[in-house]
Amino acid sequence: MTTQLNDEQKAATELINEKKIAAQLIDGKAVAARVKKEVKREIVKLKEKHKSFPSLLAVQVGANPASAAYLKSQKKGCEEVGINYQAQQLPQGVSQEELIQFIKEKNQDSKITGIILQMPLPEQIDAEKVQEAIDPSKDVEGVNPQNMGLLMYGWPGLVPCTALAVMELIKSTGTAIKGKQVTLVGHSSLVGKPLALLLLSSPFDSATTTVCHIATRNLAAHTRRAEILIVAVGKPGLIKGDMIKEGAIVIDVGINRVEGKIVGDVVFEEAKEKASLITPVPGGVGPVTTAMLLKNTVDAWKIQLDPDVRWSKKWKLT
Ligand code: NAD
Repeated sequence: MTTQLNDEQKAATELINEKKIAAQLIDGKAVAARVKKEVKREIVKLKEKHKSFPSLLAVQVGANPASAAYLKSQKKGCEEVGINYQAQQLPQGVSQEELIQFIKEKNQDSKITGIILQMPLPEQIDAEKVQEAIDPSKDVEGVNPQNMGLLMYGWPGLVPCTALAVMELIKSTGTAIKGKQVTLVGHSSLVGKPLALLLLSSPFDSATTTVCHIATRNLAAHTRRAEILIVAVGKPGLIKGDMIKEGAIVIDVGINRVEGKIVGDVVFEEAKEKASLITPVPGGVGPVTTAMLLKNTVDAWKIQLDPDVRWSKKWKLT
């Protein structure tokens, strides 16, 4: 005998089936490849039109093995899309004034269209003081106070790459953030805060955004409400399966080395049983962040080619 299911029963059955399906991966490498393709196409067009080219200068102080890997991937990315790339290493003992002077000279150099300041810096240097010295139109990491301020207006110039990468990954899922419950764990100046501003940048289509941090009480109460959960902390195992809402989209920004392996902040094996979509680590936010650096380098070049472009409607987030 066959039994007819009513709508409620059907919905419940679907929910049970949904629960059994492990989350799908959000493929950061594929998103990065698509962004790079778009960037490359735009560079070809602009090179032809303006008979000039974009060029990125990476400034490194001392030799740091961690930043060596970043330099390598920046160089590779630039070569892929047609951006001239050079890295310049200053001595470990360089003073803050000397570094600022160096940056100011590069600001004046029209053959350099983008400047990136590699972290970490030695302790005699205050990173924010140096970031303030980077010409806002060459600030491909969006760390200059002017660019940070414009983000507050919802009219961003150049925005920190990781924050842009998270937005791009959410967009790639086809999910509109409008009105969604988004919980963001982490409130750093480079990731959490700019991301919160991007999530809130539209007058009508913003997400309902909760920002959690080290002082947040009962973190799980906030993460469990999230339809989109973004974690940018740097603590492996912080977000466990029971802290995630059934069917949520989970974006794990964290990068941690545990027993020789790179992992995120989310316990992936548990989270994939609860989430509908999740970014892997590695292969999620990381590659898209690099792609966004390339996109920002082109955007910086465009602002230099035509400063009015900054104020065109296209740049306004709505
Ligand atoms: P940060 O150290 O500057 O900030 C950490 C944030 O986490 C702070 O807001 C802090 O309050 C919060 N926090 C710390 N402990 C917490 C806890 N127990 N509960 C809730 N919040 C807590 O770090 P960051 O520069 O923002 O980077 C965060 C992570 O993202 C790191 O693992 C970093 O390596 C990674 N990261 C990845 C990329 C990428 O491209 N994938 C880029 C940048 C940073």
